[in-house]
Amino acid sequence: MSRIAVLGGGITGLTCACQLAQAGHEVIIYEKAAHTGGLAGSLVRGEFIFDFGPHEFCTENPTLMALLEDLLGDDLLVREKHAAQFFNGRFIDYPLSPLHVIQQLRPALVAKILSEVVLERFKSLVWSSSDHSFERWVASRFGPTLYETYFKPFTQKVWGIDPDHLDPRTASHRIAFNSIFDYVIKTFSYFFFHRNDFSSIHSPLKDKFYYSRRGIGTLTQSLAARCLELGVEFRCGYQVDRIDQQEGQAKALHFTNGETVRDFDYAVSTIPLSLLLGSLGHPVRELPIKFRSMVFVFLELPRAQMTPYSWIYYPDPEVIFQRSTDFALLDAGMCPAGQTGICLEISCFPEDEVWSWRDEQVLARVRRDLEQVGALPESVPCKGHVVRKQFIYPIQVTGYLEIVQELLKPVQQISNLVTTGRQGLYKYCNMNECMEMAIDVADQIEAEVGQFSYDLNSNWRGAGLEQERVIRAEGTG
Ligand SMILES: Cc1cc2nc3c(=O)[nH]c(=O)nc-3n(C[C@H](O)[C@H](O)[C@H](O)COP(=O)(O)OP(=O)(O)OC[C@H]3O[C@@H](n4cnc5c(N)ncnc54)[C@H](O)[C@@H]3O)c2cc1C
Repeated sequence: MSRIAVLGGGITGLTCACQLAQAGHEVIIYEKAAHTGGLAGSLVRGEFIFDFGPHEFCTENPTLMALLEDLLGDDLLVREKHAAQFFNGRFIDYPLSPLHVIQQLRPALVAKILSEVVLERFKSLVWSSSDHSFERWVASRFGPTLYETYFKPFTQKVWGIDPDHLDPRTASHRIAFNSIFDYVIKTFSYFFFHRNDFSSIHSPLKDKFYYSRRGIGTLTQSLAARCLELGVEFRCGYQVDRIDQQEGQAKALHFTNGETVRDFDYAVSTIPLSLLLGSLGHPVRELPIKFRSMVFVFLELPRAQMTPYSWIYYPDPEVIFQRSTDFALLDAGMCPAGQTGICLEISCFPEDEVWSWRDEQVLARVRRDLEQVGALPESVPCKGHVVRKQFIYPIQVTGYLEIVQELLKPVQQISNLVTTGRQGLYKYCNMNECMEMAIDVADQIEAEVGQFSYDLNSNWRGAGLEQERVIRAEGTG
């Protein structure tokens, strides 16, 4: 039996703690916040329960599915997806069906886009192209016009950098189809033959997803409750600040509240990789990795719904938020009868103006934009809440996988320290992958591998880079 300190109590930390405690280890979770859950927690305000954006759970992994069923029982829900896009001044179903695109765009523009797609396809057949950037990956499959009018503005809004500086593996990983032809064929076979040919489990074209009753926080609360049953201890309000190491071993964890912990055999970190490296003595400002932050706005709306859609994307740069979510449409139990809770996500950096606006300013701007897009008149009274979170999207700049592989080296030199999860591995991934990573780390500790291995697989689908790159960085142990 080992004594294990888990740093961070998000879904990764909770899953890992649960697995380790089940195997008989003594586990303590150290969490900076006053409660566990992290990004997969819920915010409760009076009778309203809000998630931090829509959290659809998707998996095809039977182990994970069994765990989910076991944890949630009757609270496991299957939901239908009703998403939309605010496009050309109207709400239209998302993903865009070819018919909608044709209805929305001028015929001349449709003809231009189609001719570009055919030309790009022809070029790729004749010359072997290289997908060296996000822009090239998208433009060579969907044409420059569709890239400039649709993909570029939305990508820039979400990530906060010129898409030309994003790694093409981000596009390959997140866009569920490889070209317009691929999209048409896969959509057809999905809807008519129920065949899932999408490489991405989180494809926007899938119409169903798992959710937990009363919000995704129910899932992380169930995990925390299971941890408690298994004897895991919780230390909330513990922000790790410094880690002492000696002869390739982590020896002491120092927290900002003045506490120091020395009695552990392993430390599993799920805190942002930059913070972990900072705690090991690397100047955080000099690190070549950066997270995108987010201002979340939550509204208590005295109406059964804002629109008929569970969530809506807003690529228009004039609209301050990138997505809105309507929680009563995910589970009516998240709001008082006849009312709904709304979440608006504003992607930003802490140095951007919006981050330091007063809450009333943020609320006023959101209400103005909601009225302008025709979703909600400003005259409807709503109570609002604003929450800022710094670590949201690990920004996948060109070559980020190799950068992360390099940054992991000092961690690998410490044989009893392992980093994992979305923040810990700087991996733009979903809850299911976080849980899989957590289970993998618990298995490695249980098996006393001596060397932790990291799978930074990017599911690359493109040309000019190594195919299906799997980087396994071995620890020194
Ligand atoms: C807007 C949005 C929408 C999303 N939608 C989906 C979706 O539809 N489906 C899906 O599957 N996933 C979705 N995700 C992703 C999902 O939320 C994350 O992948 C997952 O919650 C990450 O879990 P984690 O435990 O790795 O990280 P986190 O949840 O960030 O947990 C890390 C924990 O570490 C703590 N911590 C940080 N620093 C310290 C420190 N120094 N000391 C101690 N503790 C510290 C934090 O407080 C936090 O609790 C979404 C995420 C966002 C932001």
